[in-house]
Amino acid sequence: DTAKPSNFLRHVIENDLEQGTYSGRQWGGDPGDAAHHAQGMQDPAKVRMRFPPEPNGYLHIGHAKSIWLNFELAKEYGGVCHLRFDDTNPEKEEQEYVDAIRDAVQWMGYEPVMADDPAHPGARNDHVYFASNYFDFMYRAAEYLITAGHAYVDEQSAEEIRANRGDFNTPGTDSPFRARTPDENLARFREMRDGKLADGAAVLRAKIDMASPNINMRDPALYRIRRATHHNTGDKWCIYPMYTFAHPIEDALEQITHSICTLEFEDQRPFYDWLLDRLAEGGLIASPHPRQYEFARLNVTHVITSKRKLRQLVEDGHVDGWDDPRMPTLAGLRRRGYTPEALKLFCERSGVTKSGGWIDYASLEAALRDTLDPIAPRAMVVLDPVKLVITNWGELMGGDDVLDECTAPVHPHHAEMGRRSFKLGREVWIERTDYEDVQPKGFFRLFPGNKVRLKYGHVIECTGATRDADGQLVEVQARLVPDTKSGTPGADAIKVKGNITWVAVADALPAEVRLYERLFAAAQPGTGELIDELNRDSLVVTQGYAEPSLATAVQGAPYQFERHGYFVLDSHVGANGQRVFNRAAGMRDSWGK
Ligand code: ATP
Ligand code: MG
Ligand code: MG
Repeated sequence: DTAKPSNFLRHVIENDLEQGTYSGRQWGGDPGDAAHHAQGMQDPAKVRMRFPPEPNGYLHIGHAKSIWLNFELAKEYGGVCHLRFDDTNPEKEEQEYVDAIRDAVQWMGYEPVMADDPAHPGARNDHVYFASNYFDFMYRAAEYLITAGHAYVDEQSAEEIRANRGDFNTPGTDSPFRARTPDENLARFREMRDGKLADGAAVLRAKIDMASPNINMRDPALYRIRRATHHNTGDKWCIYPMYTFAHPIEDALEQITHSICTLEFEDQRPFYDWLLDRLAEGGLIASPHPRQYEFARLNVTHVITSKRKLRQLVEDGHVDGWDDPRMPTLAGLRRRGYTPEALKLFCERSGVTKSGGWIDYASLEAALRDTLDPIAPRAMVVLDPVKLVITNWGELMGGDDVLDECTAPVHPHHAEMGRRSFKLGREVWIERTDYEDVQPKGFFRLFPGNKVRLKYGHVIECTGATRDADGQLVEVQARLVPDTKSGTPGADAIKVKGNITWVAVADALPAEVRLYERLFAAAQPGTGELIDELNRDSLVVTQGYAEPSLATAVQGAPYQFERHGYFVLDSHVGANGQRVFNRAAGMRDSWGK
């Protein structure tokens, strides 16, 4: 395991461990909450991280970075990492997304289980949590803030609240409702909860400082009224906590030590601390409370990392679902042929820093090649087939139907992976692009008079080709050069510059091959209309032929198709019931070349 994040966060964690920052953590008040929420948290001194996705879509490559960072840091320091569904927004969240997120995290190699699942008695300490299970607690925390004079019910309209917030140059203006007494506020808040007020008629706000230079501290909203059915709590609530209020509480209840998020949340940190300081004063949460740390989000060129925009691609039919192999979702990357090892290597190489930037898409493919090259079995597949006829085959081999057995290593550097075998006969499929009537400069493959080796087979000499009325190539002819079979004595006596891949017509497996390119032509998509930024040629489907060893290809297990790149058997069959292979990446970066 080489995935060791080396970064500023490790220094923070190491310092906290050295100082024993969390070893003396104490609950201030109600032991009931502590007992309930601290389930499975016997050791408060442990490093405790969390990955907190909102179940409003499928996870993408940016989330992979966050998953990798949190789970690996926890592992490295002997701690735990929670998978927490940040499900406080009833309108956009669905069970389908909860399931897909659990799948993706597990596929990445991390296996959080339900905290109270008796089937996993502490097998791993990485647990699954739902923020919506804390709604009761969050409600009580809100009542506490009201009672202590730290929150008030504001009945200004949304427009008034916005206008009175001020801006970067102008301080905000106090709401006329700001001076209400705690008793008035409490009564009004309970009416909000009890459904006495219409959606949008009031919000609960923190009472902090309308003149703060940090606009997030100008009395941020804590609760809103919204009559919507929640995927977990159903219709129990008609008020829901705001993300900025809910998130620090979730961290505190789960006794998170280091709460890592992306840089956009830097301006929220003062409120995070303000809120948890108030709740600790009131004895509602343990002290010291968790701390937030920000790192630069992952941006990859030619890729969109926003669930909302990815959903738009799915809904508008530009891709074939969330797991379309062109999608930068973990489900799509997986179908495309990416492995967790490749993604982890990519995350590691992309670094963890405080300043953002764009990582080149090419480095994602490079991580895939670097992880697959040493392990992927090899196979020959012809993507754009044209027939080659060896005209003297019958004469030399004792009959036109005679087949000759050839073998090749499964992997050139791993003899222990064994050998694969396939037939050579009078007719073979070769790549259309391996033949030219007249030799172009630097071209050493098939043209009349030239000799090439059928890789792992014999040397042949091209004698000509047949074209149809439209000039389309229909057949290439060649003669076999005797005594040149690979692996036999004297096979190399004739030197050739070209070595071409092929599959015998006699044992070829028909296969659909899907060649994917970047989904977005724009290097930094997301600034204009998504439609205009799409790469129109992101998918080319070919009907090819594969060598017989691929008959036993297992879904998701990567192969290197010699000369063509890295491919994987798709989870779906093609339109005519054929096996489908997806290209994960070519042999080298050829974008724009
Ligand atoms: P999106 O806008 O795609 O919905 P999000 O940040 O709102 O992204 P969440 O479900 O809240 O999505 O994300 C869960 C975690 O993943 C958060 O901690 C967030 O910081 C992190 N994350 C999301 N996108 C990236 C990214 N591009 N790079 C690094 N971390 C990310
Ligand atoms: Mg979010
Ligand atoms: Mg979002």
